[in-house]
Amino acid sequence: MEYLSDRIKSLSVSQTLAMAQKSNELKAKGIDVISLSLGEPDFNTPDYIKEAAKKAIDDNYSKYPPVPGYRDLREAISKKFKEENGINYSPDQIIVSAGGKHALINVILSIINPGDEVIILAPYWVSYYDQVIFAGGKPVIVTATLENDFKVKPEQIEAAITDKTRLMIFNSPSNPTGMVYNREEMESIARVVQKHKAMLVISDEIYEHIIFDGEHVSMASFDFIYDRVITVNGVSKGYAMTGWRIGYIGAPVWLAKACNKLQGQFTSGVCSIAQRAALAAIQGKGNSRQVMRDAFHRRRDLICGLLKEIKGLKVRVPQGAFYVMPDISFFLGKSDGENKIVSSDDLALYLLEKAQVATVGGSAFGAPDCIRISYANSDDLLVEAVKRIKAALEKLN
Ligand code: PMP
Ligand code: GLU
Repeated sequence: MEYLSDRIKSLSVSQTLAMAQKSNELKAKGIDVISLSLGEPDFNTPDYIKEAAKKAIDDNYSKYPPVPGYRDLREAISKKFKEENGINYSPDQIIVSAGGKHALINVILSIINPGDEVIILAPYWVSYYDQVIFAGGKPVIVTATLENDFKVKPEQIEAAITDKTRLMIFNSPSNPTGMVYNREEMESIARVVQKHKAMLVISDEIYEHIIFDGEHVSMASFDFIYDRVITVNGVSKGYAMTGWRIGYIGAPVWLAKACNKLQGQFTSGVCSIAQRAALAAIQGKGNSRQVMRDAFHRRRDLICGLLKEIKGLKVRVPQGAFYVMPDISFFLGKSDGENKIVSSDDLALYLLEKAQVATVGGSAFGAPDCIRISYANSDDLLVEAVKRIKAALEKLN
């Protein structure tokens, strides 16, 4: 007999992590799987950051840290927000959490009541949907099509707003599409938010440092909605620090206080050593961020060029992050004589089994006609992976 709460039963397993686990299991069995499923830089954490963590251990950073994060780390984040994003957040408006994921659930649990509507822009990152459900909220999905470069129009958002709308979750550069909204597009969305005073916005900017074309614009930098935007960020992607688990928010003081209270009961302040490493990362003057971004840029060009040569795939070239999301609807209903492809999830499984390439089916991202490919992998393996994908897709009739 299992005694699980309705709350936990309402939660799905993270498909990005599930696919990564499946490909790791196959690798452990000696199968030569190329993993393009997990959104994680393939680089090691830069040395100057690792040195700071080693020093923190020797300096005895071994006691409970303050619940919202070390003061000097929050000061450094405050400075970063001002200099890089044009946003004024005092250290009291900043809460450091165990990754961007934790920062997001803190915010969602702090503001969503059962039945509140939350606008999520599809294709969306998997965890937004389930975090909202977990908090008792009702996801309202507004879908951006490939024809519109996977960007929603302000009119679509306007049409989805009701008197129950409490929150919208915005993400640029986007996981899973890699698309980047430009200043004009963002301002027109911010103007919609401005009109609806009961609505807050989470702006997830975790990929801000990985942009190849154009510039990153922060939602909270539009001063007419500043006090209704929560900016989520972290060091996982820009500094290759996924395992260190450090994310943070900049938010209105009332919300930062709420997240502090929640964290004080659930987790306490997050890992002291990782916080010292994050401080070094954010203050660091090296060029590691740039080196990684340049590598992702090169790989974006490489993989998109190769994918475009595959008959039936529709590819929009992303401007940032390290994902590309081809439309695979051409292959739906086709079969290799053994496996019938009914959904994009079937196609992802087919590619895993027949091509030994792990991707993620689109349904978990609200994009049932697409698959997500993470190109955070070496150039050689990307070339080999696309070769295998092409051969497997050519067998479908
Ligand atoms: N937001 C987005 C859009 C992401 O892709 C990720 C990465 N999984 C996160 C937030 C959370 O990142 P982390 O918890 O690793 O800091
Ligand atoms: N954000 C990454 C991804 O989308 C890591 C996995 C996760 O946290 O869901 O693949």
